[in-house]
Amino acid sequence: MPELPEVETIRRGLEPHVIGHPVHDVLVGDPKILQLEAHHLKDKIRGQSIRSLGRRGKFLIFELDRHYLIFHFGMTGQLTFRDPSRSDANRFKRHPVTGLERARQHVPDRHTHLQIHFEQGGAILFRDIRKFGKVFLIEKGKNRLSVFFNRLGLEPFTPDYNIQAFLERFRNRKLRLKSLLLDQRFVAGIGNIYADEALFEAGLQPARTIPSLRRFEKEKLFEAIPLVLKRGIDYGGTSFRDYVNSNGEPGTHQEKLMVYGRQGESCYRCETIIEKIVISQRGTHFCPTCQPRRRGK
Ligand SMILES: [Zn+2]
Repeated sequence: MPELPEVETIRRGLEPHVIGHPVHDVLVGDPKILQLEAHHLKDKIRGQSIRSLGRRGKFLIFELDRHYLIFHFGMTGQLTFRDPSRSDANRFKRHPVTGLERARQHVPDRHTHLQIHFEQGGAILFRDIRKFGKVFLIEKGKNRLSVFFNRLGLEPFTPDYNIQAFLERFRNRKLRLKSLLLDQRFVAGIGNIYADEALFEAGLQPARTIPSLRRFEKEKLFEAIPLVLKRGIDYGGTSFRDYVNSNGEPGTHQEKLMVYGRQGESCYRCETIIEKIVISQRGTHFCPTCQPRRRGK
């Protein structure tokens, strides 16, 4: 599932291709992903230009003249720019080392559920094999965005992400640490991969409960979260299966992961074997030595 670093990588890649461009046409494949009637989407956004491209947590936000068009990528969503000056790949290729399916630039297929074509040529294609992705359209207006996102937690890399606000978010929570990190009301944008990586970075065992944490341990987590997210962005996101950037290319962060997906392998810091347990029905990876069960000192 694309998490904050993957969505941010897509945002940065699309930006130069779409800003200032008026929407010429909208084609809908399977309207299941749309949170409105397909013909309404087409009628409303045609002719509007894209003014900016933003992000909140795992949501990508196209600011149009009169609306916000918002994408959530679900499990397998891909948003790519199809450039008419580039040639299309006629079939899918697998990466020789990672075995990842390379989407590349390709003609829309049966998994392409939304196409937005621009007057200057070129189109953005939303492709989603499992169809858990969602597309929303909201009218611009005072506080409309903040109301839409009112259940989302702190946004990393903004002034809202400060230690006071962070500590406040632990109040009255009794969850396990991993479950808290997956809760989008805590910090927005973290999913399974970066939750495990942040807990490793902070030296915290994922099964520990919130009430067992000392203040200095929460402070370590506060610092670890943006650090691992930034690393993910720096390496163009993490690709295990479906994630590709706006050019249809996988990221390279999967090669830099410290614990996620490394069960049975040795820790890069202490050589202890990485373990995998299940918390909140999600595979959870940690180093038993670097992330001890007892309280840290
Ligand atoms: Zn270790």
